[in-house]
Amino acid sequence: MCASNNMAKKSYDIVKMCLWCGAMSMDVPFNKKAHTIPKSLGGQNYNKFVCDSCNNYFGDRASNNNKYSIEEALKETFIITRTRLLIPGKIKRKVGRFKSKFFEVKEKNGRYSLSIKHQFKFSPGFQNELCHSFKRGLYKMFFEEFNLQKGFGMEAKYDIIRAFARYNKIYLPVFYFRRKIGILALIESEAETPILLFDRIKYLFSDDKFIEIEFLGHVFGFPITDFNTVDLQNYLVESSKLKISFFLPAIELKKLTDIDFTLSIMNN
Ligand SMILES: [Zn+2]
Repeated sequence: MCASNNMAKKSYDIVKMCLWCGAMSMDVPFNKKAHTIPKSLGGQNYNKFVCDSCNNYFGDRASNNNKYSIEEALKETFIITRTRLLIPGKIKRKVGRFKSKFFEVKEKNGRYSLSIKHQFKFSPGFQNELCHSFKRGLYKMFFEEFNLQKGFGMEAKYDIIRAFARYNKIYLPVFYFRRKIGILALIESEAETPILLFDRIKYLFSDDKFIEIEFLGHVFGFPITDFNTVDLQNYLVESSKLKISFFLPAIELKKLTDIDFTLSIMNN
């Protein structure tokens, strides 16, 4: 065995840097699969550039508030919508299961009923905390998919995303757009294997500072790099121009119930 053979073999080992904490694969393990969209929501993609420690962080209750993890806050929010969108009897693949702590969705003859468990409280403190965890989870899902789909994310300009989602050191606003009319452009398999869309839809705004995403029929907008109040105002004006026919004005998410979980618009 000569040295050149060893070097050739070595070049196949990709050195990875963690998207969240910047740790390198020669220093920390990258063994676990970091699902970008939670597996229990049907997500299939995973991001190789997430170290095990950061992967654990988002799924661990102890790293959040000991009541639910950041990922659970995300799943709780979308599980109802997803159940609502899945066509009974048409599910081809065994989908991930997730037992909700907060909600129970029952389907009978194509009609859905939703009940809320006592663990879900309407008090402002509980709602704000849950919403805060949800927003961090939304950023986590977005950032790992953004990196996977576009290859961006390692750049320092995205540090605000890391500071909020991974380290909870700053506050970032997330805006939600409620639909005016009940038209959902979902592809057939989307509820089964949800995908995160950013720029394929005309009404989704994006520039260097703000981005909008659509997930399971819900539209959210948020900053991705440093911004000031003028940038924020400009964003909201430009975004509303794209949405005027389809959406109500943006609301900044403060409590989880601001989100139309059950896509009530579909009942119209
Ligand atoms: Zn990491």
